[in-house]
Amino acid sequence: MADLSSLAQGIVSGSISVIDLTAPLNPETPVLVLPEPWGQTAKFSSTEISNYDERGPWWYWNNFSTGEHTGTHLDAPNHWVSGKDLDDVSQIPPQRLVGPAVVLDFVAHTQADPDFLLDVTHIKEWEAKHGKLPAHGWVLFRTGWSSRGNAQDTFLNADETGPHTPGLSIAAANYLAHETDILGLGVETVGTDAGQAFGFETPFPCHANLMGANKYGLTQLRNLDKLPTTGAVVIAAPLKIEKGSGSPTRVLALVSK
Ligand code: MN
Repeated sequence: MADLSSLAQGIVSGSISVIDLTAPLNPETPVLVLPEPWGQTAKFSSTEISNYDERGPWWYWNNFSTGEHTGTHLDAPNHWVSGKDLDDVSQIPPQRLVGPAVVLDFVAHTQADPDFLLDVTHIKEWEAKHGKLPAHGWVLFRTGWSSRGNAQDTFLNADETGPHTPGLSIAAANYLAHETDILGLGVETVGTDAGQAFGFETPFPCHANLMGANKYGLTQLRNLDKLPTTGAVVIAAPLKIEKGSGSPTRVLALVSK
């Protein structure tokens, strides 16, 4: 009880910051584009119901439409065929949406190579410096990619060979999924997998391994530069869509000053 009241006090006094890791959701919010012949996710859109006018004199509201995987969102285990019998987004225990977060900063690597892949050796080097990846924790892969997040073209960074965005090697995806007890992987890019991951020997290894191991993905995160390497607590709050494979998600971090 004492801990919770000091947490609340810290939030009120500002000694604990609440950092919003969520990208704004609007019709221009970038979305994943898959090669033919696969189906495409929808962008966010909204239509006005009334705006303090004859359709409703005292109120303003909208209907909205969006893909489950549009903008900052959570991938539920049933998003991938490897996790098809595991939880949908409404079934994820709420306790598993909140946990300690660590930041793996590979901005310099990504600036040198947009196709940079985090490998097991990078993770082990990080662990040697900062400790084991936290059980029941979020691993946040910082690439600086969120600075491109207001424009579909620069965010997807695609040419005739497909999108070029950073991600994880097959071995690293395997390691996180099967040799750690994390909740999931958070990234700044449009999806947890690298842009070129459609052509990997195991295609989309983050999706295949993490979802199959009952772990989650968080995408299009912002403000990772405002988090400490260790010590933040992240809360991910997807909509409780029954049978949903994911949902746009408000992702908040608590950081002690
Ligand atoms: Mn997704």
